[in-house]
Amino acid sequence: MKTDIEIAQDADLKPIEEIASGLDLAREDWEPYGHTKAKLSDTLLTKLHDKPDGKVILVTSINPTPAGEGKSTVTVGLGQALRKIGKEAVIALREPSLGPVMGMKGGAAGGGYSQVLPMEDINLHFTGDLHAITSANNALSAMMDNHIHRGNTLNIDPRRIEWKRVMDMNDRALREIVVGLGGPLRGVPREEGFNITVASEIMAILCLATSLEDLKARIAEIVVAYTYDEEPVTVKDLQVEGALTLLLKDAIKPNLVQTTENTPAIIHGGPFANIAHGCNSIMATKTAAKLSDYVVTEAGFGADLGAEKFLDIKSRAGKFDTDAVVIVATVRALKMHGGAKPEDLKTEDMNTLKTGMENLKKHIETIESFGLPFVVAINKFPTDTKAETDFIKTWCESLNVDVALTDVHANGGAGGTELAEKIVEKADTPVQKLNYVYDLNDSLEVKIRKIAQMVYGADNIELSSTAKKQLTFYEQQGWGRLPVCMAKTQYSLSDDPALLGRPENFTVTIRELRPSIGAGFIVVLTGNMMTMPGLPEKPAALNMDVDQDGKIIGLF
Ligand code: ADP
Repeated sequence: MKTDIEIAQDADLKPIEEIASGLDLAREDWEPYGHTKAKLSDTLLTKLHDKPDGKVILVTSINPTPAGEGKSTVTVGLGQALRKIGKEAVIALREPSLGPVMGMKGGAAGGGYSQVLPMEDINLHFTGDLHAITSANNALSAMMDNHIHRGNTLNIDPRRIEWKRVMDMNDRALREIVVGLGGPLRGVPREEGFNITVASEIMAILCLATSLEDLKARIAEIVVAYTYDEEPVTVKDLQVEGALTLLLKDAIKPNLVQTTENTPAIIHGGPFANIAHGCNSIMATKTAAKLSDYVVTEAGFGADLGAEKFLDIKSRAGKFDTDAVVIVATVRALKMHGGAKPEDLKTEDMNTLKTGMENLKKHIETIESFGLPFVVAINKFPTDTKAETDFIKTWCESLNVDVALTDVHANGGAGGTELAEKIVEKADTPVQKLNYVYDLNDSLEVKIRKIAQMVYGADNIELSSTAKKQLTFYEQQGWGRLPVCMAKTQYSLSDDPALLGRPENFTVTIRELRPSIGAGFIVVLTGNMMTMPGLPEKPAALNMDVDQDGKIIGLF
């Protein structure tokens, strides 16, 4: 089998004009960025306001293994498959971060014959959105440090600064640093640290903003620090929301590209799926819905994190409907949930597979509790045996759950037509009513408890003394009516990554809260969440090269 980059290099890409005109876009609706990428106008959504919305199909999964279970791949493959069965479909995905690209997990542009292209650009600098977000984030840091240096009229307590600098790389040496050393001309010394760009609140804001105006209004609300009297200091207080929005004026425009089979794809924004909501931008998803009959989109990690945040945060903020859900399951992850060791995942093992089905069961119940129709997609890997995939199918059928064996990695859209037929039937049936997990009027504590009990299956939550104090303070600040964005391990339904399968009789420990007021949610940390990842012993970067003709080697 060819590598992803080899498949990508052999693909027959159409000029981006053709993709745009296939979507009936007028020339003023898009701007070329080279031959195969374009930016869509940020006013396109307003222009298309009266056009009916296409159906939104969300791709989520069971709790993944560290390698990922193929949500992006299935999303791309399903988009292609929908076109194969004669439907108008557009894909909406996140932009990859250079941290995982150079580090361990690989890119986020799908895989095999279900990729978005040009994958080398998408995985590297693309259209510069992550650069713009990095610049805006760091401009804010510079403005704040300058304010403190110039007399600090806002009375900012340098020991209570929330805002951190960012860069788009896994760089553990920058997690905790000291800035301002070297005397009075070099600023005020204080503790600082870097996050990865995708963890910046500006990334989350970009993905939840519905227009340039909304982007500016949200940026103004970011809480950057507290005063010596413990009052929040915002971007509005520093008066830099205009400059920061200016830096983002092109980044807010969704990017148009195509897949290996020339299906249109809108790729825009990529917030961390743990400390942020892990979904592409509202503007991308809503634009895709205006431009086609079906949008296929995804949300990071399993349904306990990704789907919950997509539905409770993103779809609520964007005021759009979700029509159907695909739950991706893989033989390897199910076996892992049943107790198989990582080195044995490629060997047939019906016992661990059987035990591991409990994890899928819980995610099925969660999607059912939202009131949404769904199909389970078995993302087939070359090492899966027929006995294993047959077992999953029979198990689903015995529960009256629709299931489709999906082989889009090896076969592109042709490998996903069964899934496409089944999901269209679901998406075309009107949803009675989406049941959010919590009401926005619930207190923060009630919201957290509802998610822990209903989505994770926990008995209860336990709040640290810090979290208790913060809950009281946040409610006093008037932040209690915001949604909560849970930061939890993706590997387990619980807050303990070692508890696989379907854990029971556990309590979720709430360690700390963080305000993301511009994004419009309160981050709830349930463990030690890393906001600046590190590189592994053998980073993926070691395999990468570019030859004298500019040919890329080793990018997956
Ligand atoms: P996720 O979006 O769930 O994190 P990805 O779609 O990015 O997962 O897939 C993770 C990795 O697994 C990618 O390198 C992808 O090419 C690979 N992959 C996904 N599905 C398959 C499959 N069916 N067979 C082989 N490799 C696959």
